[in-house]
Amino acid sequence: MRTVDLIQKKREGGELSGEEIEFIVKGYVAGTVPEYQVSAWLMAVFFEGMTPRETAALTDSMLRSGKVMDLSGIEGPFVDKHSTGGVGDKVSLILAPMVAACGVKVPMMSGRALGHTGGTLDKLESIPGYRTGLSEAEFRDFIRKDGFAMTGQTAEIVPADKKLYALRDVTATVESVPLITASILSKKVAEGAESLVFDVKSGPGAFMKTPEAAETLARSLASTGTAMGKRIVSVITDMGEPLGNKVGNFFEVEEALDCLEGSGPADLMEVTYRLGAWMLVAAGVTGDAEEGEARCREAIRSGRAKELFLDNVTTQGGRTDRLLELRGECRSAHSYDILAPEAGYLSGIDAYKIGRAGVYLGVGRDTAADLVFPDVGFVFEKKSGAPVAARERLCTMYGKDEAAIAAAAELAVSAFGFSRTPPAPKASLIVKEICAL
Ligand code: URA
Repeated sequence: MRTVDLIQKKREGGELSGEEIEFIVKGYVAGTVPEYQVSAWLMAVFFEGMTPRETAALTDSMLRSGKVMDLSGIEGPFVDKHSTGGVGDKVSLILAPMVAACGVKVPMMSGRALGHTGGTLDKLESIPGYRTGLSEAEFRDFIRKDGFAMTGQTAEIVPADKKLYALRDVTATVESVPLITASILSKKVAEGAESLVFDVKSGPGAFMKTPEAAETLARSLASTGTAMGKRIVSVITDMGEPLGNKVGNFFEVEEALDCLEGSGPADLMEVTYRLGAWMLVAAGVTGDAEEGEARCREAIRSGRAKELFLDNVTTQGGRTDRLLELRGECRSAHSYDILAPEAGYLSGIDAYKIGRAGVYLGVGRDTAADLVFPDVGFVFEKKSGAPVAARERLCTMYGKDEAAIAAAAELAVSAFGFSRTPPAPKASLIVKEICAL
């Protein structure tokens, strides 16, 4: 087999066999297929796409480039949720203990902030002492103990994705549905869950900017995941505006605690309950999403979900005393209030602009080497639809220093839209549900 022939076949719209795809993936990981040829192949895939068979073959080859977590000996069912990335998306922090409280095991392997989107690992690490780099043995033990555990991707899990993702990042080939599908699914299958619920974000603050693009990805994840033997539900949710009232690493932990205590913002809880409901259906614990939602609400109401969250913080080395002391206090000294320019209504908050401004403040990062900070971000006092008086405070933003505030201010201010008349009432954030069970 010659790589150049495979590149040409794809460039001309042909379908590569599983063996041919394996040749490229395996060769790239082993160093026998050079980066320049993989780059050319990725660009051919970007323009020509992949058939469902090719996407499944790529996912499988990537999965087999590393280890699959062995959860045998732990009583299931095992279900995980994956979000394609958003702003203010702290759903995982609430969802994992909530679903675990309903008797389902959640092996959660999460990522870090990159670009304008936040990362669950950075949020968790803002809790003093919390460790996210678990060994496989710890991951297993902690799931057995608390019903869920939260860790980062280890070097042994899907090494092909590490290399391919870094190459896609510098060859403008990230935004390809089959490449995103294989990248996400290979990692999710490797962590050992039997069922997966995908939160495919749609809108300015998401990877997929339109509901149509989000649906294409949601369907690709569902069909490829099913072909890999997993039970899949894809839920498309709106990411036009930041989720909840806080954006920032420790700020989002605080808001997750509010949610676990039953006083979370309605938009965030709508998404959390719906995803939780589908996780219970996918696990076979409840027959339909309505029953699942009722179980999830009870897990919050009873306090069991909060109890499991705090247990997990202790189990993973975090200091619950410090977490509770810092609540509402962990704020940088460098802050800036965004005020309404005139009386009227807040018509929208652009999640992408807030996410980008957050990178300047120190919430997120542009490169993997950038430092992130716990005490920076946004605390919103108004969300879209709210009436506002002239010069009323809409939000306070906190930055790592004054230069960060100065760099973020213009962009953050421009994220707020206003109207003189009340905007149309907010529609549900649940855009579409694709159940492939
Ligand atoms: N997230 C991933 O893990 N991979 C992609 O390709 C895109 C988003």
